[in-house]
Amino acid sequence: MSSLFIADLHLDDSRPQITSLFEQYLAGDDVRGADALYILGDLVEAWIGDDDDAELPRRTARATRAVRDAGVPVYFMAGNRDFLLGDAFAERAGLTLLEDGTVHDLYGTPTLLMHGDVLCTDDVTYQAVRRNVRTPEWKAQVLAMPLDARRALAAQARKDSRAHTGATQETIMDVNAQAVAQAMRKAGVGRLIHGHTHRPAIHRFDLDGQTAERIVLGDWYEQGSVLRIAPGTLQLSVLRD
Ligand code: MN
Repeated sequence: MSSLFIADLHLDDSRPQITSLFEQYLAGDDVRGADALYILGDLVEAWIGDDDDAELPRRTARATRAVRDAGVPVYFMAGNRDFLLGDAFAERAGLTLLEDGTVHDLYGTPTLLMHGDVLCTDDVTYQAVRRNVRTPEWKAQVLAMPLDARRALAAQARKDSRAHTGATQETIMDVNAQAVAQAMRKAGVGRLIHGHTHRPAIHRFDLDGQTAERIVLGDWYEQGSVLRIAPGTLQLSVLRD
C-alpha cells in the first residue's frame, strides 16, 4: 500500500532524458503497484491548450493513460505552468483533476494538497499576475488564439518568469510561514504536501500546539523526486535513470 506524489517535472523538449525518466517511472512497478499517483502541478514547462498537437503532450498522455488503464488512479492538480490544462486533455490522459487545496485522507491522515504558489505571498508581483491570468476571461481569450501565437506567448512568459526569478530575493520565492499555517488551519489538517519552490524537504513544526508536517516535493530538472506515503511511513527520494 502506497501513494506516490510528484510535481514540477517541467517536461520540455530541451530535456528529453527527463521525459524518458518520467515514462520509465510510470511504466515501472513502483507506480503500477501504487494505490494512486498524484501529480501536483507543473507537469510540463508550458501548457498552451489541450488542442496542442505537439509530440510531448501526446507522450505525456500516453504515459499517464497507461497507469490509469492499469487500475491506478492518476490525480492531477494544475501548477502555474499548466493551469490551462482542461477536461479534454484530462479525459485523454486518464487524469482526475483536483482543485488546488484539496484534502485527501491518506491512510488515516487528512492531508492538504497544493501546488504551492499561492503560499508564496511575499512575492506580491507574482500573486498579482496569478490573479490576472486565472480568470475565465483571460483563459478564454488565450485559448481562442491560434496555436502559433500561443506558442510565442508561452516562450515570452518563460523569459519573463526567468527574469523575475533571477531578480527576486531567495526568501521571497519561498512559502510564507503564516500563509502555510493559515491554509492548514482552514483545511483542518496537520499535514501539507506541495511543490513549486523546488526545495525538497520534510519540515516538522508546531501548529497550535501540535506537530505539523509540510512536505515539499522536488523538481525534475536534473533528476526525479518522489514522495511515497504508506501507512505509518513517508519517504522523499531522488530518482535517477
Ligand atoms: Mn510551479
